[in-house]
Amino acid sequence: MAILNIVKEGDPILRKTSRPVDEITPRIIRLLDDMRETLAHAEGCGLAAVQVGVLRRIVLVDTEETGLLELINPKITAYAGEQENVEGCLSIPGVWGITKRPASVTVTAMNRRGETFSVTGSDLAARAFCHELDHLDGKLFTDKMIRRIDPDEIG
Ligand code: ZN
Repeated sequence: MAILNIVKEGDPILRKTSRPVDEITPRIIRLLDDMRETLAHAEGCGLAAVQVGVLRRIVLVDTEETGLLELINPKITAYAGEQENVEGCLSIPGVWGITKRPASVTVTAMNRRGETFSVTGSDLAARAFCHELDHLDGKLFTDKMIRRIDPDEIG
């Protein structure tokens, strides 16, 4: 495994649309392993493949509620409610802001064995699902930030 470089805002790749994974090859497995190590090292709660320079529809989400999830070709299949809370992004260091997201989100995706599964998350997990899936379509949380906040305001 390897810790990969995380692409920062300003790099045009972050605005590109990622392509679906057609087949889980050894290369994809290696990417997943490297993304796991990179996310753990960065102490984040989510990472999209585009953030390590690979335009594939793959994200990791790691929250207390969901544990570490590998989501290949993820799609939001249900959502409910609304929340306004703090978000940040490993590609935009030092910036925090309030966004509006659904309170609960269900994602259907494929795992590394090619099996389809669904997972529902609320609160932070719901925000992480939305945030990471946005990355796959070239969107950043700052596009929908209601207001930027000072790091001191985060409890
Ligand atoms: Zn992000």
